[in-house]
Amino acid sequence: MPDGRATPPSKIGEFRAQLIREDLRDFTGYSSARTSDTGAPATIWLNANEASTASAIDPEGAQRRYPDPQPADLMAALADTYGVRPEQVVVGRGSDECIDLLVRTLTAPGGQDAIVQAPPTFGMYAVSARLHGVPVIDVPQRDLGTLWEVDVDGMRAAVEAGGATAVFLTSPGNPTGAVVPLEDIEQLAADLADQAVVVVDEAYQEFAGPRSAATLLDAHPNLVVLRTLSKAHGLAGARIGTALCHPDLATVLRRVQAPYPMPTPVAELAVAALSASVRRSVDARVLQTRTSRELLAEILQADPRVTSVYASEANFLLVRGPGVDSLLTELRASGIVVRDMRHLLTDALRVTVGSPEEIEAVQQSLGSAAQPSTLTPARARGIHT
Ligand SMILES: *Cc1c(COP(=O)(O)O)cnc(C)c1O
Repeated sequence: MPDGRATPPSKIGEFRAQLIREDLRDFTGYSSARTSDTGAPATIWLNANEASTASAIDPEGAQRRYPDPQPADLMAALADTYGVRPEQVVVGRGSDECIDLLVRTLTAPGGQDAIVQAPPTFGMYAVSARLHGVPVIDVPQRDLGTLWEVDVDGMRAAVEAGGATAVFLTSPGNPTGAVVPLEDIEQLAADLADQAVVVVDEAYQEFAGPRSAATLLDAHPNLVVLRTLSKAHGLAGARIGTALCHPDLATVLRRVQAPYPMPTPVAELAVAALSASVRRSVDARVLQTRTSRELLAEILQADPRVTSVYASEANFLLVRGPGVDSLLTELRASGIVVRDMRHLLTDALRVTVGSPEEIEAVQQSLGSAAQPSTLTPARARGIHT
C-alpha cells in the first residue's frame, strides 16, 4: 500500500537550521544508555541499571532491557509503507506526540513565535501550543456548503504578519473530511521556505483519493507529514504515529523526544502490523469503509433534520442542520454515541463510518426520518464519497 515513491536522495533540498527554535539549535538532548555506546563489540551491559535477571512475569526476559528508541526494523517498515527513506521517519506515541514534538521544536514559548491553524480543525495543535505557551493564529476555512476549503493565501499572510514558525494543515481534515490540494500545500511550503515549517496531518490519508504529501518531501525541506496506525490500520490502542520529514529535522525531533518512546511490545506489534498480509487487510478495510461511507451519507442526508452532509475523504462524515440537537438525543437514546461538534460549529456532529451493522443501527434509530428511496448509486445531492 505504499502511496508515495522514494525519490533518489540526490535531489533532496537543504534543511534551513533557522526553522528550528533558536535556543534548541545546538541542543543534543538526553544521552541514553541505548544511544551513547560507541558500538565496539560488547557482551556485558552494565550501563543502564537494568535488572540482571528476568521478571517473574516475563521469564524470557523480553522486556528486561530498555528499548531501542527508534528500532531499525520498525523505521524500515514505516518508511516502506509511506514511500520515504528510514532517515526521514520519526516514530512517536501516536501522531499526538509528533504534534507536541513539532510545536516544542519549532516554536519558543513566551516570545514572538506562534502557530497557524485552519479551524474547524483537530484540537491537538492548539492544545500543544497552549501547554507550551505559544499563541495560536486561526485562519478559518471557508464553508462551501458541501465542502470545506482551506484559505491558503490567508494562512501565508498570517504567518508573515504574525511571526508564526509552524503551520498545521489537516488533509483529509478533521472534522471537515476535505482534502487540501497538493498544489496548495506545495505552494505554501515554497512560499514559506525560509519562515515556517508546514505540517500536513494525514491521519486519514488511507481513505483519501489524492496521493500523500509525502511525495513532496524531497522538494520541500520545510514540509512535515504526519501519519498514524490509529485509524485505517485499526491500532489506536497501540499508540503509533509517525512524522515524515527532512533527515536533519528528524534528528532534532528525536533529540527533543523522551529517551525511550517506543515500548518493546509496541514496536514488535507495529512491525507485524506493517507486513504485506496485514497491509492487504488494511486495504480491504479501507475499501469497505469507502463503500459504507456512501451508504451512511445517504441515510443521514435523508433525515429532514440534516441540511448538509459534507463530502468526506476520511472515515467519518460531518453533518450540519438545525435539527442536530434532536438527532444527537435520538441516537444517544438508542445507545449510539457520535461526536458532538457543537463546540466548533453551532449545529454539527461527526459520525464515524462504522460496520454495516452499526450503520444499520443508525438507520433504525433515525427510523422513518431516514429512509432513502434508493441507496445506490449515490445520488447527486452534494454527496461525494
Ligand atoms: C486521530 C487524529 C490524530 C491522532 O492520531 P494518534 O496517532 O492516535 O495520536 C491526529 N490527527 C488527526 C487529524 C486525527 O484525527
